[in-house]
Amino acid sequence: MSGPSIKTRFAPSPSGEIHLGNLRTALFNALLAVGRQGVFLLRIEDTDVERSRKEHVEALLRDLRWLGLHWQEGPETGGPHGPYYQAQRLDIYRGYYDQLAANGASYPCFCSGDQLAMARRAQRIAGQPPRYAGTCANLSADEVQRRLDAGMKPTVRFRVPVGEAIEFDDLARGRQCFQSDEIGDFIIRRSDGSAAFFFTNAIDDALMGVTHVLRGEDHLTNTPRQLLILKALGLQAPAYGHVSLLVGDDGAPLSKRHGSRSVRELREQGYLPAALLNYLARLGHSCDTDALGDLDQLAAAFSLERLGRAPARYDEQQLRHWQKEAVAAARLEELVEWFKLSPEYRHLPAPLDDAALEELLAVLRDNVVMPADAAAWVRRLAGDELEPDAEGQQILDAAGSVFFQQALTALEGAGDFRSFANAVGKAAGVKGRALFMPLRVALTGVTHGPEMQRVWEWLGPARCRSRLQDALTGRGSGANRDAESL
Ligand code: GLU
Repeated sequence: MSGPSIKTRFAPSPSGEIHLGNLRTALFNALLAVGRQGVFLLRIEDTDVERSRKEHVEALLRDLRWLGLHWQEGPETGGPHGPYYQAQRLDIYRGYYDQLAANGASYPCFCSGDQLAMARRAQRIAGQPPRYAGTCANLSADEVQRRLDAGMKPTVRFRVPVGEAIEFDDLARGRQCFQSDEIGDFIIRRSDGSAAFFFTNAIDDALMGVTHVLRGEDHLTNTPRQLLILKALGLQAPAYGHVSLLVGDDGAPLSKRHGSRSVRELREQGYLPAALLNYLARLGHSCDTDALGDLDQLAAAFSLERLGRAPARYDEQQLRHWQKEAVAAARLEELVEWFKLSPEYRHLPAPLDDAALEELLAVLRDNVVMPADAAAWVRRLAGDELEPDAEGQQILDAAGSVFFQQALTALEGAGDFRSFANAVGKAAGVKGRALFMPLRVALTGVTHGPEMQRVWEWLGPARCRSRLQDALTGRGSGANRDAESL
């Protein structure tokens, strides 16, 4: 897609780990930028000193990098509009507070929490929406000074103009219209001097040249306030788009209760970046392709017109579907690394070298979704002893010892699996499932799995022989055991 160059951004508050909801916001912004050869900017909104933590910032940068969501402007990368940490921009914000105050577009408010609560209660009883009553809107300069001298610590409120319609075209939801008279004068600086998030957020978008903002619809009501602030300061507002929120299957905002995990937890469980990105690119956004894509391909398939307005439902099965696709598409060296980093790999009785792992994963990959699946298959194919599951055991028992004797005979001189199976079938007078299932279970322990020719090649003749032997003498001797117990 061509068009004027755009700049999008992700502006997280580092108060915790990154979850699927905010990751989706980051992704949509990144896709929009990539698709239009624009810039994706990262800004850390860490003005809330109580809740912002350095380790959260570090984790966030690491998660985004792991996912391949690279930012062209932001922390570590740098850029012409830094610093990209809001905590380092307090002087800049101070200048804008002064400008608003000088223009009469803001005023100090000395109302206490109790006074405000009382006023709200009265409004509720009168059937009015709760809104600041304007108590401090017109204090004289002397009165303000007197209160300041008395040590009172005011908040700063933005003076909302009377009788204005605030309209904008939402990138995701179309035309939006708010009436300024329904918005009370709102606080832009708290009494402790800290900034309201939407104040610094709006100013930085303007100063950093952000053209498009995609964010959760929980921010929709902030937008008219931000537009008012930017207009009062003569700053250019970005185009805002509010995307539907992620919800669990009960329709409530996605949370731990729905099995939602942080990106770190998902990574530790073995989800691949491509799985998360491909899943999220289709969550509340209808992609016109079902194929697994990299960031460029997902960006080409991303379109603001296809953003859904209904809440997007999290579905673990879909995430697993994309994980399966991602495993199938990954390079073998990547899969080896992925598997080796998992706890399941560390719990294997005997480690395998990289070359053996690569060979094994080439055989297994279509049967693997998570590292636990790979570990189970490694145990089945590289372990010394097989533990057939209950279903497999029944199949071995039903085939009986004569079948496995014939299989051992057929093994001598057999070339590939097909000619081996044909020879067994001929000798035992069986075909189809009755032929293939006992062989599969004898060689792998289970009734499903990778193509048998590949299993056969990987196991090699010696291991095939010992497994058929086991099926004959031990586990496959159900018929004998029955005979003995008679
Ligand atoms: N720091 C805000 C948040 O994490 C950013 C909101 C926005 O994207 O404008 O919710």
